[in-house]
Amino acid sequence: TETADPIRFAMVGLGWWTREQAMPAVAAGDLCETTVLVSGDREKAVSVADTSETVARAITYEEFHDGAASEAYDAVYVVTPNARHLPFVESAAELGKDVLCEKPMEATINRAEQMVAACNEHGVTLMIAYRMHTEPAIRRARDVIEAGYVGDPVFVHGNMSEPILELVPDPDQWRLDWELSGGCATMDIGIYSLNTARFLLDADPVRVQGSVASVQEEFADVPDEHAAFQVDFPDHTFAVCTASQNATMASHVRVTGTEGEVRVEPAFYPWDERRLHVSHGGSDIDVSFEQSDQMEEEFEYFSHCLLTGEDPYADGEHGLVDIRALKGVYEAAEDGRAVEL
Ligand code: NDP
Repeated sequence: TETADPIRFAMVGLGWWTREQAMPAVAAGDLCETTVLVSGDREKAVSVADTSETVARAITYEEFHDGAASEAYDAVYVVTPNARHLPFVESAAELGKDVLCEKPMEATINRAEQMVAACNEHGVTLMIAYRMHTEPAIRRARDVIEAGYVGDPVFVHGNMSEPILELVPDPDQWRLDWELSGGCATMDIGIYSLNTARFLLDADPVRVQGSVASVQEEFADVPDEHAAFQVDFPDHTFAVCTASQNATMASHVRVTGTEGEVRVEPAFYPWDERRLHVSHGGSDIDVSFEQSDQMEEEFEYFSHCLLTGEDPYADGEHGLVDIRALKGVYEAAEDGRAVEL
């Protein structure tokens, strides 16, 4: 594949993640390049395009839906608020373009199902952008579990928390708006513990229960400033996940089994150097991982899949499992009972 033409990306939605993480990652990769920028604001698109050597076209959302510049890109990266993913994926699919869509894939189960249907109908590849699948420390943890070092996994503990109003000091931001986000801590960052548990266990959830709470007035529109939920996997493996948009910056994931334990900490933020800790048979091993650019690895992996025809690991059906489980957490929190998936 080294000699193939790189996959040309159109990036839809020019927020901080696109500008500061995705565009540099694609520029650093060998298998892809950014050639088209799509924004609600033409001037913004043009000024961001001026910072890139590869971007040839800067267009608006309306122009994108009309198929403008479609000869200038092969695939689309969708990075708008959660409830604004579907229309762009549908237009991309109609134009025959493959899609890398940010997590969580959409704000409701119904819209996530429509996304999968649109991509199937038009025969385009859909991958959901989970950074952890290309994170070396998480991948090694998965190998260690698969090789039997923890025995049978019994518990997963995962946490991700951050003070979102300090990171983005805007009470009107879309993450606090139920209609645009489909949920706050659970949907936005609880998804990391859930999805990484699935990846590490190589299993899908069967049941969820949980509690959510919003305390500060800025979180009045969403039920989950803080969330704690339990995810049951087959064979009585339980994942306990916590997520907060108003607690200190922290993240870890730990798998405890009948014969040992594996922990990655810090786990989920893109900028950390990670430590993998393995306990087994009375001995402990600590491995430090240099920081790798997860986004570069993710774009290279997706591009590799498109160039070789390989199916990506995190396809639309994979993403749907998370949306069903996370929506089950809200339902369970409201009713105070477990939700079968
Ligand atoms: P931002 O608020 O920084 O940017 C979102 C962009 O979407 C805006 O800049 C805007 O771009 C566009 N947009 C379109 N419609 C709206 C609207 N109604 N309100 C606000 N913005 C709108 O968000 P993020 O970049 O942080 O998040 C975007 C997506 O990426 C989300 O799905 C999020 O979950 C995901 N994400 C994933 C991360 C990961 O680690 N995988 C990390 C961060 C985000 P424009 O002005 O160009 O139109």
